[in-house]
Amino acid sequence: MRLVMLGPPGAGKGTQAKVLEERYGASQLSTGDLLRQNVADGSPLGAKAKSFMDSGGLVPDDVIVGMMEVPLAKLDSFVLDGFPRTVAQAETLDAMLGKLGKPLTAVLLFDADRATLLRRLAGRWTNPRTGRTYHLEFNPPKVAGIDDQDGGPLVQRPDDAADVVAKRLETYDAQTAPLVEYYDRTGRLVRIDGLQAIGDVTAAVQKAIDARSGAAA
Ligand code: ADP
Ligand code: AMP
Repeated sequence: MRLVMLGPPGAGKGTQAKVLEERYGASQLSTGDLLRQNVADGSPLGAKAKSFMDSGGLVPDDVIVGMMEVPLAKLDSFVLDGFPRTVAQAETLDAMLGKLGKPLTAVLLFDADRATLLRRLAGRWTNPRTGRTYHLEFNPPKVAGIDDQDGGPLVQRPDDAADVVAKRLETYDAQTAPLVEYYDRTGRLVRIDGLQAIGDVTAAVQKAIDARSGAAA
């Protein structure tokens, strides 16, 4: 299984990617998580990325593509979360996977209205070690501030603050939304209603995957 999770910040990409990882053993590759890890480690890549992330803009394509080359070559089964985010990244991804003989299975587009996205991001709590997210209202941890799974502390991401979120949504509309047409044109796009409850979104994702596997068989 080789999937792209597409959609605006807060649409539920990471939440569903974690479910797919557990269900199918397909590795979640979240560029946001990888970048935050690099920033936390103080790596040169993190130093290059930080100011773009803090402002809600995009990290340059060459930095992102360079970061993804090795994991994409290594893995046969993956769920890409937050990548690609520009048409240039999508074209490079197609070229890379073409060369490796590992084309994408499908691109799942998660969507939700702006008010919902704002509410989800404002209440999001994240485990910085694993990238797993919870929500104060919609998916609370058993103990406030603690990850159910590994007992690690949950934090609020600084870029989930309202002013940065506004910029991130603008960035999505300007630079990432064109990918919808890019993937639709090539018959790879599956639309998922991201407004449903988490379990119902998972059921819709499962149905989409089953339909694609059936089509491929
Ligand atoms: P993305 O990876 O697309 O930015 P997340 O998966 O981190 O989004 O979800 C954003 C927030 O919304 C998280 O706090 C998550 O727990 C919550 N969430 C995700 N999916 C749903 C849903 N279907 N209904 C309600 N809340 C959700
Ligand atoms: P995310 O965790 O997906 O919300 O990403 C957090 C931030 O990391 C974004 O606001 C961008 O600054 C940066 N980022 C993540 N993925 C990409 C990407 N594919 N291209 C460019 N920037 C990215």
